Amino acid sequence: MQSDSTTEAPVTAGIRRSAGRSVATDAGGYRVVALCDGHVDFDLSRLPGVALDDALPVAAPRGVDARDLAVSVNAFAVVGPDRLYLVDSGNGTIRGPGLGHLLQAMAAAGLRPEDVDAVLMTHMHGDHVAGLYDGDRSVFPNAEMIVSEAERAFWDAPEQLSELQRGQLDMARKGFATHSGRTTIANPGAEVVPGITMVALPGHTPGHVGYRIDGSDPLLIWGDVVHLPALQMARPDWYFVFDVDPETAVATRRRILDEVATDGIRVTGAHVPFPGFARIERAGGGYLYRPTDESL
Ligand SMILES: [Zn+2]
Repeated sequence: MQSDSTTEAPVTAGIRRSAGRSVATDAGGYRVVALCDGHVDFDLSRLPGVALDDALPVAAPRGVDARDLAVSVNAFAVVGPDRLYLVDSGNGTIRGPGLGHLLQAMAAAGLRPEDVDAVLMTHMHGDHVAGLYDGDRSVFPNAEMIVSEAERAFWDAPEQLSELQRGQLDMARKGFATHSGRTTIANPGAEVVPGITMVALPGHTPGHVGYRIDGSDPLLIWGDVVHLPALQMARPDWYFVFDVDPETAVATRRRILDEVATDGIRVTGAHVPFPGFARIERAGGGYLYRPTDESL
């Protein structure tokens, strides 16, 4: 453990120290293990149109300095009595040393890549899919890949991709290529594996989905519903630069936050501060992300 800054905000410091860690909770009949792939450092330009003067007073009470933003990259293992699933796979080897620690986090939890039965994809951006492969080889040799039909269709029509999204195309394609012959296409509402339902969360990408683990004290793994919770929980209308359809992404965020706050459903996601298990409360005109006991 080290801290190279005495002024670093506490939430940000925690995000930067979690690469390779794992933290578990129970949901339904499963043990769910948050796996920290690492973090990325962002500046406010990732939220188009948001001024620093507006962001600073929103982030500060939530333990974050809007001039120094860090974002966790998480994936999840869902461990059953005789089955092991992953939700997303982190960055693999494609980015810098702060990322790509999924396998280390799995090892810390006693989980082996060859034991993974299925990888449930929220969407096919590089920070979710690139951990599936190493060169031309799948890291999870016995796993099927489960993807939504709309997500598959989106990456199958590259001519309609923006330049920004086109930068992700090779990684999406490689995810499909290294799992050809063992990819299952599903639609929201389907129980994709026992007790786990695919949930439509369109906007970030057209086929972006979450996975809800049903049963006692259910848990929604919501993918990229938020990227910067210290800002977007208070201001769900602040969209992320990588959202394919910002208007739909904002509508989805508002709808899901309202639902989980009303129903008291636990949530976690790929970019909430590791390990990210939390309940959502209404606060002011927005929401509060309240980590549950498993968090650190
Ligand atoms: Zn992401």
